[in-house]
Amino acid sequence: MKRKVIVAVGAHPDDIEFGCPVTLSNYKEDGYEIHYIVATNGENGFKVKSLSSKERIDIRKKEQLIAARKVGVKEVHFLGYKDGFLDYDDILREKLTLLFKELKPEIVFSFDPANMGFDNINLNHRDHRNISVAVFDAVFAAKNDFIYPDKKGLHRIEKLFFFGTHKPNYEVDITDKLEFKLDVLSSFNSQFPNFDNFANFFKEHIGRDSEKYKYAEVFRVVDVVQISY
Ligand SMILES: [Zn+2]
Repeated sequence: MKRKVIVAVGAHPDDIEFGCPVTLSNYKEDGYEIHYIVATNGENGFKVKSLSSKERIDIRKKEQLIAARKVGVKEVHFLGYKDGFLDYDDILREKLTLLFKELKPEIVFSFDPANMGFDNINLNHRDHRNISVAVFDAVFAAKNDFIYPDKKGLHRIEKLFFFGTHKPNYEVDITDKLEFKLDVLSSFNSQFPNFDNFANFFKEHIGRDSEKYKYAEVFRVVDVVQISY
C-alpha cells in the first residue's frame, strides 16, 4: 500500500490543536501517517513568572507530545526557535523544505498566509505570520531541484489546508468529536489554569466558525496546481 503522509506545521505547541486535531485524526483513521512540525519552543506563552526558560521549554514540549499522541501522530519535529522571535528567513524555509522532501506529504496544514489583516492580535501574532509564509514558500521550494538541492530529490505537495483562515472554503463537521478536541487541548495544562472555563469559552465562541455545523474545523484549501506544458 502506498504510504500517505500529512504534515501539520505550527509556530507554537497548541497551534495545530486549536486548528485541526479532529480533521487530522480523521485522516489518521483513513490510513494517513501524520507528522507535526513545531517551529518555536512556546516558552513565552506563560502567565507564571517563577519558572526558568528551560523549565518552560520542557513543559511545553511534554504537553505537545501528549497532545500529539492522542491524535496518533507518528513524530513531532521541533525546530527549537525562540518563542516570539520567529523570523522568516532562508534558514527557516530550508529547514521546512528539507523536511517536506524527506517526509513527502500529500497535504500540508498550517496558518493562512492570506490572513495579513492585522485585525486579531493573537491570530496575527508575528510567529504565526512568519511560519505561514515560510510554509507556503517551502511548498514551492520542495518541488524544485535547484533551490535547496539535496539527495532526497524534489517532492510535489498536492494540497494546502490553511487553518485560522478568514476565507474558508472547506468545513469539517466536528460536532460529534468536540469532546475529543477538548481532550486534546486539555493536554496543554500550562495554558489553561482553569480548563473548564476555557472549555465553556471554546464551546460558546472559538469552535463555532461555521453556519452549517454546530462545531467545525474550517480551512482555506488550496490545490497546488502542477503545470506542465
Ligand atoms: Zn501560536
